[in-house]
Amino acid sequence: MSADFLDRAVEGVQDLTPYVPGKPVEELERELGIRNIIKLASNENPLGPSPAARKAAEAAMADLGRYPDGNGFRLKQRLADLHKLDIARIVLGNGSNDVLDMVARCFLGPGRNAVFSEYAFAVYPICSRATGAELRAAPALSRDHESQPLGHDLDAMLAQIDANTGVVFVANPNNPTGTWLQPDAVSAFLAAVPDDVVVVLDEAYFEYMAPEWRCDSRELLDIHANLIVTRTFSKVHGLAALRVGYGLASAGIADLLNRVRQPFNNNSAALAAALASLDDMTHVEHSVALNSTGLAGLRAGLQALGLVVLPTQANFLTIDFGREAGSLFQALLQKGVIVRPLASYDMPDYLRVTVGTDEENRRFLQSLADVLQEAAA
Ligand SMILES: *Cc1c(COP(=O)(O)O)cnc(C)c1O
Repeated sequence: MSADFLDRAVEGVQDLTPYVPGKPVEELERELGIRNIIKLASNENPLGPSPAARKAAEAAMADLGRYPDGNGFRLKQRLADLHKLDIARIVLGNGSNDVLDMVARCFLGPGRNAVFSEYAFAVYPICSRATGAELRAAPALSRDHESQPLGHDLDAMLAQIDANTGVVFVANPNNPTGTWLQPDAVSAFLAAVPDDVVVVLDEAYFEYMAPEWRCDSRELLDIHANLIVTRTFSKVHGLAALRVGYGLASAGIADLLNRVRQPFNNNSAALAAALASLDDMTHVEHSVALNSTGLAGLRAGLQALGLVVLPTQANFLTIDFGREAGSLFQALLQKGVIVRPLASYDMPDYLRVTVGTDEENRRFLQSLADVLQEAAA
């Protein structure tokens, strides 16, 4: 046996490499000894949470000695009203990541496989492989596809499903590409998947989508008992630090997920803030509006620099530099601008930038222009 215990880890875990998060501001501050850093690397809301959500979290701090409500009753009740679903069909997670992990633990394991798209969200292979399941990444649409370059190819995903498939993960819109699916195509896909195969429709960026692209998840949940829709408070609600997400599913699946859910997986501040956040839809609307103007400005600025950007319905843009982009990422860091390199996604030529405030977007565009000019000199 080796000293690092690698050979004692269960088979799936032996193959894993940890999730690579966006670089924290504090880390870059330590490394460079500079201030005034901007982080556009993790698709957070640049406005942060609604003031009401912040106040609710602070109020919850008064009772740190007690366990939180392990059933998250009040938040679930509110979500049940919002989605017009029975409360028994809602599962709360410590971020939607937690829900994805519960799904994997319930429906995957040795001898089963998980299907997802190439260039899909990195958590799908991590939580799947940890269970010992086989990973099946379906080829994505091509780099020069006319409308959804590198997007999910639902036919290719269908072709990967067999009798041993436990879960299919669909990200809509997808991170890190920003690509999305036509609602009709999602409906047709769900109709074609065998009804004993669980399908996760990950809608982390739902609120940012133009209304005409949004799937009617409520209707889909009525038709398909094998569907799990996931949502999060980390993105448009600006509560990434508190970790709240949820899954909507049939009561049967929700019951299974709750069996593996850790007791008290949502802390009191998180539960309170999420609840308050749902009562401030003005903040959500304001955030979405800021995102659309920011996105348009960034897109125009990048195109003016002669760069190719992927289409997006989310709060980030993915840039195709047509050459290895890691050195550009490093050069931007030197200027105090953190974006996301995508080499860990097998997309070394791309960088992903989160839409920030107008000022952050301007600073990013200027820094990128400088970096490109310095690289050309
Ligand atoms: C950010 C993100 C999530 C949400 O993560 P949380 O755990 O809820 O913070 C889920 N799916 C995708 C595709 C994401 O980009």
